Amino acid sequence: MKTNFTDYPLSSEILKSVSMLNFENPTKVQQAVIPAVLQQRDIIVQSQTGSGKTAAFGIPICELVDWEENKPQALVMVPTRELAMQVKEDLFNIGRFKRLKVSAIFGRSPFNSQRKELREKTHVVVGTPGRIIDHMTRETLDLSKVKYLVIDEADEMLNMGFIEDIETIIAGVSKDRVTLLLSATMPQRIEALAKQYMKEPVITKIEEENTAVDRISQERYEVSQRDKIQLLRDLTIIENPDSCIIFCNTQVVVDQVYDELYEFGYTCSEIHGGMEQDDRLRIMKDFKEGRFRYLVATDVAARGIDIEDISLVINYDIPQETESYVHRIGRTGRVSKEGRAITFVTEYEGKFLRAIEKEMGKEIPLKERPETKTLTDAKDAFDQKIRTRPEVKESKGDPLSKDILKLHINAGKKTKMRPVDIVGTLCSIEGMTAADIGIINVLDVSTFVEILNNKGEMVLEELQNKPIKGRLRKVTKADR
Ligand code: AMP
Repeated sequence: MKTNFTDYPLSSEILKSVSMLNFENPTKVQQAVIPAVLQQRDIIVQSQTGSGKTAAFGIPICELVDWEENKPQALVMVPTRELAMQVKEDLFNIGRFKRLKVSAIFGRSPFNSQRKELREKTHVVVGTPGRIIDHMTRETLDLSKVKYLVIDEADEMLNMGFIEDIETIIAGVSKDRVTLLLSATMPQRIEALAKQYMKEPVITKIEEENTAVDRISQERYEVSQRDKIQLLRDLTIIENPDSCIIFCNTQVVVDQVYDELYEFGYTCSEIHGGMEQDDRLRIMKDFKEGRFRYLVATDVAARGIDIEDISLVINYDIPQETESYVHRIGRTGRVSKEGRAITFVTEYEGKFLRAIEKEMGKEIPLKERPETKTLTDAKDAFDQKIRTRPEVKESKGDPLSKDILKLHINAGKKTKMRPVDIVGTLCSIEGMTAADIGIINVLDVSTFVEILNNKGEMVLEELQNKPIKGRLRKVTKADR
C-alpha cells in the first residue's frame, strides 16, 4: 500500500495542487482508487462521503486527461446540483496547475450559458442526470471523447429515480472507457447496473474504522410538536454551537423554524428544494464560509455536501428513513472529527426511532430537558456569541489562487482573438513560459487569462505597451 501521493506516478502539476490543498497522505479510498484508475481499470467503490472519495477519482482523472483535447474526456454524474457545484470545485482545484477546465451542468439554471460553456474547451463535465440528458438530446454536449465515466452516489441517484437516465447516459458514451461507480450502499439495482455496464471491475469496500455512527455522540429528546421550538431554543442556548444544521422533514416546517429563529436574533438561513437554485447555491457557499451559524434545512442539504466543522446537527423532525438519519448526522464529525447530533421525537414517532436504532445496532440515549438553572447559567455566553459575527473561513481552494492573477483583455472572438494569440504574446515576455499561463477564456468581446506563479503584476505592466495580435489592447486586472 502506498502512503504518500508522491509514490504514485502523478505529474508535478497534480502533486502541487494536492499539497496546496493540504492533503498529506492518501485516504483509504484514495489508496484503492488512484492506482486502479491510473491503470485504466473499472472500479466499484463502496464508501461513505467524507472519506475523500471526490479526490480519489479526481486525482487520477485530472492526471490522465489530455490537455490538448478540446472535447470533454470525463463525465461525472451526481444526484444533486449542490454536489455538482462542489465536485466541480474540487476537480478544478486538483487540476488547477494543469489548467483544466471543468464545467458543471444542472437543472433550474440557464441552459444557454451552459451550452456556451460547453462549446469552449472543457476537460471534465460534472452534471445531474436530467440536465446531462437535455444537453445530449439538444446536441450541446459532445460525449464522443469521454474516456472516464463516474457514477457518484449511485444509490442516491437510484433513490431519486434517475436510474433510467443513468442508463441512457451510459449508452451515449463510448464502450472504450473506464467506468467508476461510487455508492454508500449497494442495492441490488446498482449491482445489476455495474454487472451490465462495467468490465471486470475492481471492487473495494472501505470499512471506516470509526464510522460516523460511532464517532458522533447522539442524543434524543421526547417532545410534543407544539413544544419543539422552545426545546430548540433551550438546547441551542446550552450547546451554543459555532455552526449548526437543523433538519426538518418538510419545506413548510423549515420556513416556520427559520422565521422563529430569525425573530429571536439568530444568525441563520434556510435551504430547501422549493427555493431558487441561485439562492440555494449562495446559501450553501455562505454557510461553508461560516457567514452564519444556523442553517435550517430539508434533506436537500444532507447528502454529500462537504462542510467542515459543523459542531451540531439537530433533527427537529426525526427522519422517516434510517438512511436519511445517517446522512444527516454525518454532516457533523467530518474526516475523523468528533460531532454531536440531537434528535427530537414526538410520541407518535417511536416507530421511526426504533427502525433507526435497529439499523444502527445502537440505542440513542434519551435525555431530560435542561433545567432552568442550567439555562440561566448558559444564557450569557449564548447571547454574547449570537451578537458576534462568525469569523469567515478561507475556502479550500484559496491557497491555490494566491500566486495567480486573472487579467482581462478587451478583445475576444468578435475580433478573432484566439488562445494561441494570447499565449504567443505572453511567451514573448521575458521571464514568462507556457507553464506560467493558466486558464484562458475567450468570450465574445473580452478574454480572461490567468497568470500563475506570481508573475501577474509584471505581465500586466508589460502588456500596457505590448501589442496582442498586432494591436495594443486594454489590459486590466479582472474583477473577482
Ligand atoms: P469527500 O469524501 O470527497 O466528500 O471528501 C471529504 C473531505 O476530505 C474534503 O474536505 C476533502 O477536501 C478532504 N480530503 C480529501 N482527501 C484528503 C486527504 N488525502 N487528506 C486530507 N483531507 C482530504
